[in-house]
Amino acid sequence: MEGKLTEIFGINVFNDARMVECLPKKIYVKLKQTIENGDDLDIEVAEVVANAMKDWAIERGATHYTHWFQPMTGVTAEKHDSFISPTVDGKVIMEFSGKELIKGEPDASSFPSGGIRSTFEARGYTAWDCTSPAFLREDAAGVTLCIPTAFCSYTGEALDKKTPLLRSMEAINDQALRILKLFNHHDVTSVNVTVGAEQEYFLIDKEDYLKREDLMFTGRTLFGAMPPKGQEMDDHYFGHLRDRVAAFMKDLNEECWKMGILAKTQHNEAAPAQHEMAPVFSTVNIASDHNQLTMELMKRIANNHGLECLLHEKPFEGVNGSGKHNNWSLVTNTGKNLFDPGTTPHENIQFLLFFSAILKAVDEHAGLLRLSASNAGNDHRLGANEAPPAIISIFVGDQMEDVLLQLVETGEATRSKKTGKFSVGVHRIPEFYRDATDRNRTSPFAFTNNRYEFRMIGSSMSIADANTVLNTIVADALCDMANILEQADDFDLAVHDIIKKTVSDHYRIVFNGNGYSKEWEEEAARRGLPNYRSYIDSIPSLISKKSIKLFEKHCVFSKSELYSRAEVEYENYAKTINIEGRTMIQMFSRKYAPAVIRYTKELADSINSITKACPGIDVSVQEDLLTKVSNLLVQAQKAQNHLIDCIIEAESISRETKEAKEAAERERRQAALSYKDEIDLKGLLGMTPFSYKLAQHFKDKVIPAMEDLRRPVDELELIVPKDLWPVPSYGDMLFEV
Ligand code: ADP
Ligand code: MG
Repeated sequence: MEGKLTEIFGINVFNDARMVECLPKKIYVKLKQTIENGDDLDIEVAEVVANAMKDWAIERGATHYTHWFQPMTGVTAEKHDSFISPTVDGKVIMEFSGKELIKGEPDASSFPSGGIRSTFEARGYTAWDCTSPAFLREDAAGVTLCIPTAFCSYTGEALDKKTPLLRSMEAINDQALRILKLFNHHDVTSVNVTVGAEQEYFLIDKEDYLKREDLMFTGRTLFGAMPPKGQEMDDHYFGHLRDRVAAFMKDLNEECWKMGILAKTQHNEAAPAQHEMAPVFSTVNIASDHNQLTMELMKRIANNHGLECLLHEKPFEGVNGSGKHNNWSLVTNTGKNLFDPGTTPHENIQFLLFFSAILKAVDEHAGLLRLSASNAGNDHRLGANEAPPAIISIFVGDQMEDVLLQLVETGEATRSKKTGKFSVGVHRIPEFYRDATDRNRTSPFAFTNNRYEFRMIGSSMSIADANTVLNTIVADALCDMANILEQADDFDLAVHDIIKKTVSDHYRIVFNGNGYSKEWEEEAARRGLPNYRSYIDSIPSLISKKSIKLFEKHCVFSKSELYSRAEVEYENYAKTINIEGRTMIQMFSRKYAPAVIRYTKELADSINSITKACPGIDVSVQEDLLTKVSNLLVQAQKAQNHLIDCIIEAESISRETKEAKEAAERERRQAALSYKDEIDLKGLLGMTPFSYKLAQHFKDKVIPAMEDLRRPVDELELIVPKDLWPVPSYGDMLFEV
């Protein structure tokens, strides 16, 4: 490490300490008012800040700046500009104006917009998000000043993941403050959402990676037979870190720390070659930015170590996939965690109110939460044979289950289970108090001490969507409660009634048992809890009447933004599966089929030469193998032909979809309506997004065809000699690093 941890921490961030150092007091105070209270930012302040940022960045070696934003692709985007500005004498000076800081103009038509923007309407803006600090990125391009920004269309609609997140933070702040005022917390002026996102990932050898088109093009293996040893020995989880991985983690930590990312915990995960990194929690939009940066850093640093970092939700079939655990809580500006139960939660009325708001929010909007954690990759985890289940429920732990049951059964909670002393029975090992509650690894949404752990999010996804949904649905539950409580004559009585009623109404969402079991699936169905089996089944929840009302009420999404996002979800799904199907076809015809044909020739040659050399000798082993391999090859070839047909059919559906979109666009133009006007005026409730049919085709036709091709090839992998097999095996990739 270059210096002490405390010295390098945040060295690449234009953080608060740096602002105090570089900015005139008056400007600093004004900027802080914008950051903390949302006051408008004036251009003079921006000018001074831009100049100070530039001087600091240049001193650290920066030549370029970029507006860093998060379009609906799920990955970040940036366009670099250098600071140079020509002077009359043919030289250059380094400049960066307030205007350049607060506003950028990338081409909006090249990013997914779901119809909000058509190709000729290119204008879009990026706008400085001063609540997330600017930072320097050091890479092959040199040093770049990165400015976190929100990305919107010319017409003001959000085209990114950050804008709605920021809006949802305002919504939950407003509603939580209403409740806190009722409890006489007049000192509290803001409520912050805190998030700590644990990130799982795989590391494999770069050379293996480069030999597999499936990993390169799709992030996951589309073929591959299981090795004799998988994860059944449970010897990898928390196992000793091998040197190569440890060296990667050391570099990752250092780079994270320099960027102000609070990298804290690292360990091996359950699957071989799988690992996890967890930062200390921070404000949600910073946590979201930091998680995006962490994923970028993981990829880059792995590369420096001759490794490849796989962030896909399911890189290897039959091996545990990766997720992202989103630890979420609410904290006041006075430092109080609103989900801290204290030692006697049954007496903590304010806590119980917030706790019951969560039950209500999650129960009422389970579909939205499911969708917010889903992508095509996560379909291999959620609702497949792996954790967490696709059915949303809340694990509350023994202590809270007991309190809630008292409320449901008697209307009154009079006691809380105590935490016991913990002793292992060895005098030299110190005793300590155990937590009030055990953990549950099978729950998608678990209350853990003083926060909720939403465990469903896919490992490659941005956490912004999930937190936007969480913030908004909890804001809405708090809003309903505040509406009643603010009118109540007897507050104490009203608050008791509301807790009792909310817990009783939504107790069905509470489940402390094994979320993987078949019995739970049946029980959940009896309770009426939704079970969206696939990602695309959950997309309609985004444009249901209930969701539109919810998001519009809290100014998080307009109706047109919701429709456009549903369109993008279907498009993304179709694109992902399309690439996967095509990659399989290419790999089969260019790699697997030729390799297998080579082997059949080897077998045939062997049979011929042996019978020639020694007529009458038993060559049945070779003959059996030849028959078996040839049959599997024929089966695979048939499956491949079918897959090709399905993809050709997809192409024609895709053309129809495009034509329908263009026709709708033309009509809009003739009627002089924007996308927003049309959705708002015509109230296209119930309208099916254009790409629905295409996505459905990929799910119902293409995916089964892909599975049919995979099966015989995986069987062949176990028969064909290793030296003839054209790509690295699961065993090579999972146990080599
Ligand atoms: P575990 O694996 O037991 O869930 P980790 O240490 O891996 O625990 O991760 C816990 C995560 O929860 C960390 O990112 C931590 O910072 C975060 N966390 C702890 N308290 C809060 C809180 N009040 N709000 C949000 N996140 C929190
Ligand atoms: Mg965890």
